[in-house]
Amino acid sequence: LVRFDEVRKSFGALEVLKGITLDITEGQVVALIGKSGSGKSTALRCINGLEKINAGQLSVCGRDLLARNFDLRDLRKEVGIVFQSYNLFPHLTVEQNVTLAPRKVNGLKGAAVSELAAEVLEQVGLSEKAKNYPEQLSGGQQQRVAIARSLAMRPRLMLFDEITSALDPELTGEVLRVIAKLAAGGMTMVLVTHEMAFAAKVADQIVFMHEGRVWEKGNGDMLADPTTPELRQFVGNGL
Ligand code: ATP
Ligand code: MG
Repeated sequence: LVRFDEVRKSFGALEVLKGITLDITEGQVVALIGKSGSGKSTALRCINGLEKINAGQLSVCGRDLLARNFDLRDLRKEVGIVFQSYNLFPHLTVEQNVTLAPRKVNGLKGAAVSELAAEVLEQVGLSEKAKNYPEQLSGGQQQRVAIARSLAMRPRLMLFDEITSALDPELTGEVLRVIAKLAAGGMTMVLVTHEMAFAAKVADQIVFMHEGRVWEKGNGDMLADPTTPELRQFVGNGL
């Protein structure tokens, strides 16, 4: 579903991605781990075109992102992204927040709107909060609303960038449970995370990035038995 082939990305003179090659197949859960500044967020943002790659090839949902006829808006309909900050609209209810894009972008109307809201809020365990405003919810609940908002566009692929980093441990748990449920339902997901135990448990593929490169990749066992000194040190630091 996603294929990086020797992808390079620079910001000015700083090369942040130094030839990333990576395959993500349909239904896979991929965890991107690595030190601060290793290029995890940049790699994630390239997938939905928030950053434009400088060299190599990147194909997402059957589209070549460097093709001349590439349509960013089309891609964004298929790729959902959730950040650490949830950015909900404070003056809109939960239901209005999650259905905003389907109404504006897809022209969804009438009963279909509340049916969609009910469906995606059920997926994140917030059915009873549809009429509440964001400020009436906990941080973990707001983050689950942000996930529901992405799901409402029925993406083929979901990207998560450290979505639990700002949350207390107990709220982190409820958000991770939602992600685990989506994984069990077959959703293709790429998550940048510091939750190593969770990554080891849920991810089909763990990708350790170091200095802009894919340094090591493998399954959950890789964390217990690192090949490279860099990963051993990273895991050992408990980061
Ligand atoms: P963290 O764990 O701290 O989120 P990360 O692995 O996600 O780190 P990136 O955000 O991908 O790292 O950043 C990689 C490098 O690229 C860093 O040195 C960062 O300063 C730089 N960088 C990222 N975005 C930009 C930008 N828009 N302009 C200039 N430099 C940038
Ligand atoms: Mg980051």
